[in-house]
Order: sequence, then structure tokens, then C-alpha cells
Amino acid sequence: MKRRNFLTSAGLSIAAAGMPSGNAAPQQAASKPLDISEYEPKSMLRVKETLVARARFPVIDIHTHLSFSKKAVNGVQMSDERTFLGTPQELLAVMDRKNLAAMVNLTGGYGKGLEDAIARYDNAYPGRFYTFTEPWYSRFKEPNYPSFQASAIEDAHRAGAKGLKILKTLGLYLREDITSGKLVTVDDARFDPMWDACGRLKMPVAIHVSDPVAFFTPTDRFNERYEELNNHPDWSFYGPDFPSNAQILEARNRVIARHPKTQFIVLHVGNFAEDLENVSANMDRFPNMSVEIGARVGELGRQPRAARKFFDRFQDRILFGTDAVPHGDEFPQQVFNDKLYEIYFRFLETDDEYFDYAPARVPPQGRWRIYGIQLPDSILHKVYNQNAARLLGVPSPG
Ligand SMILES: [Zn+2]
Repeated sequence: MKRRNFLTSAGLSIAAAGMPSGNAAPQQAASKPLDISEYEPKSMLRVKETLVARARFPVIDIHTHLSFSKKAVNGVQMSDERTFLGTPQELLAVMDRKNLAAMVNLTGGYGKGLEDAIARYDNAYPGRFYTFTEPWYSRFKEPNYPSFQASAIEDAHRAGAKGLKILKTLGLYLREDITSGKLVTVDDARFDPMWDACGRLKMPVAIHVSDPVAFFTPTDRFNERYEELNNHPDWSFYGPDFPSNAQILEARNRVIARHPKTQFIVLHVGNFAEDLENVSANMDRFPNMSVEIGARVGELGRQPRAARKFFDRFQDRILFGTDAVPHGDEFPQQVFNDKLYEIYFRFLETDDEYFDYAPARVPPQGRWRIYGIQLPDSILHKVYNQNAARLLGVPSPG
């Protein structure tokens, strides 16, 4: 019998024999199972803590969400009207404190909603906000959809949109009958004219397809993101109803290969930050592919040596982004506030060790902590704004 088991059974038998509870209680408490959701271990490690209150260079955050469609059905946007999540004034206060030159609102929508978003942010505060358009999926069933969608990109460009955003709707929610039927694949030819229009107009495509690879495996005791999936069961794409992570990324790669004149920014490190070798191989294959790091400092920061090499190697094609959403307290890894930016800056600029990747009671995406990669100034400058400025066709903010 192992010593711990021996003590436990001894403790129980002592209690049963009616010994004073003062002796038995600590051993009984130690043997009681603890619900994982109540476990909040405090690290006893004493390590350097650097507060990076302002980024070293002005930042363009290429991945934020300041507006959403007023109506969505089964994960598909059905209305061109927008709900706005933050006033420019409250956003600018945080931006000025953190040295954020500009925020890119990826979910700008289309039609009237897009015009409203551009008027509210981009036109009211030139150079501080940029807006992307999105596909008009509610019209997907119309026979002329491919050419309609391409001309909608031209309209959006005229209205001032800087790029096109693809949510994971494509590949995981959009179906033949829009909200029902067979899933439409990421490389469906009906979108080819849309991708081409973006290339012609120099509008980069910020594309989020698939999701963390753990979301495609069973939500069980082996799943490294068990608590997150348990909190959000609708984030699981495991099972026969969905393609695999690999199938979605292969379809995405076929799109990138077919449209070499279109720039693709694969969001969330291409949704495969768990395998930087794979991402690197795709970066080598596709010169028209860049990556964005939003909501993946938890992945990059737990493999700091591989991440640092990745930044060295692809320093001209990595963009700063956070996936920040004002007032979205539900997902601490992406709430737009000072603390969120301080974590990203700490990860990129310092060699601090073993710190939280999100301002949260427990790490929300998996129970681990991260390490800084201390990028040199030349790379920081590119990642913070130069790479984004080049793709957006705007001046570097300094
Ligand atoms: Zn996002």
C-alpha cells in the first residue's frame, strides 16, 4: 500500500472510532474530491512581473468586433442591420492609454449596416478605426449569387470597407438552404468571384475557418479544453455532423492556392497554433498568406521557443490582433479592456515566465500559463503595425 493511501484509510478509521475530530478532520478534508470548477491553485513561483502599460510602438489591432448583425439564425447572419457594442469615445480612451493607433472592426456587415458602421467609426475618427465587410449569406440561394456577391464587394469598397471578413459560418454553419441542409464547403466555387474581387481591389481577406483542434475531439477527460467546452457545449464540433479540423483547413488551403493575387490573413494563427510546423509549412507554400494572433497567446505562449522561431521566420507576415469585443464579459480572453492588451504586450515584449494569458479566475481556454518571447524592436514594429499597414494600404502610424 502506498503511504498516501495508508494515511487516508487510517484517517477514516480513526474518525470512525470516535477520535476527537481535531485530529481526523484535516486528513478527511484532504481526501475529499474537489470539483474541478472550484480548483483555483495559486502559483507559489516567485518570478519577475513586468507591467507593460503601453505598447512599444503604435499598434494596429487587426482583429476586433465592434458590431454584429441584429439577427442570426443557426449561426448565419440574416440582417444587414447592426448592433453596436461600444461608443467611439469609450474605445478611444483605452486606445490612447495602451498606444493603440487603430482598431479594425472586422464584423462590419454589408449594405446599410456597413455604411452605418463606417460612418460611426471610420469617418468620425479617421485613421483610428477601419471596417471590413462580410458576405451577404442571406442571399446565397439566389441564382446569381456568385456575381451578386462580387459586386457587393465592389460596393463595400466604394463605401470605404478595407477588407473582407469570413467568420467560421463558412465551413461550420452555412448550409445549402442557408440555415438547413448540407454544409457548404469553404472552397465552394460559388465564392470564387468574391475572392477574386478582393484581390482586384486589394482588400485583404481576414478568414476564420475551423476552430481549436480540441473542439473537434470528444468533450471528455482527455480533452485539454474540457472546462471551456463544458461551459460552452455549442462550441464542440465533434461528431458525424461536422467535417474534421483538417478537412476544413485543407479546403481553406485550396482557396488560398486558387487565388494567389488575393491576400489572406488567417486569423487565430490559422486555427492551428497547436501545430506551428503545419502553419509554417502553409506559410512557405502560400506567399499570399499572413497570420494573426488573436485569442492564441495562450497557445503561442506555452511553446515560447517554437513561437519565437515562428516570429523570427515570418516576421513580415504576422499581425497583431486580439479578437477584442467591448463589454463581452463572457469570454475573458477577448474582453476589450486595459488588462487584455497588457497581457499581449507582456507576451510579445518581455521574458516574463509563467503568467496568465487571460484576465480570469481560472485560465479559460485550458489550465496552463505562458511565457514571454521578448521580440526585438525590429520585429515588434512589424508585428505591431507595419505588416498590417501594408496589407490595409494605410500609412504606418509610427
Ligand atoms: Zn474574431
